[in-house]
Amino acid sequence: MPSWQAAFSLGCYIARAMIKNPDRRLFLGLLGTSAVAGVCLLAAGRGTAAAFEIRYSPAEWRRRLGQERYHILREAGTERPFTSALLKEKRKGVFTCAGCSLPLFSSAAKYDSGTGWPSFWKALPNAVTHSSTPSLAMFGIEEHCRRCGGHLGHVFDDGPPPTGKRHCINGLSLSFRPA
Ligand SMILES: [Zn+2]
Repeated sequence: MPSWQAAFSLGCYIARAMIKNPDRRLFLGLLGTSAVAGVCLLAAGRGTAAAFEIRYSPAEWRRRLGQERYHILREAGTERPFTSALLKEKRKGVFTCAGCSLPLFSSAAKYDSGTGWPSFWKALPNAVTHSSTPSLAMFGIEEHCRRCGGHLGHVFDDGPPPTGKRHCINGLSLSFRPA
């Protein structure tokens, strides 16, 4: 859940409490305003770390992933091109998130983009989320795992039919499960 939605939910919760206890309305109203403002500030400061279904501390992620995968998935790193063993993976199966095992891409959507990173023309349904900085749009839209928020890579508009999308994904963000 994005952080602004968390703030919104808290706001709704406080509004409900105010309706149930009208005599405490003023007090709760002041408290609510401060709380929502506080949550917004907190959320802005913490980025999206708290917004995903699967969450661990940085130390726990580092322990689970190892340094290389940690750098890509949790620090939005980029692996060197042509280094991933998954580039040559041609078997049928599913590419899952290396952070939380959520199925992300089917082998049926994999293609050789020539870029040196595993590439797909579509993601599985309800598998990924996106974020972008408008001024950096030329560098693609950042793609994350929907469940753990792990950084996967970027999506570009120069992919093949039928979608025209190129999901340019770090191999270290993925694990392969043969069908
Ligand atoms: Zn994940």
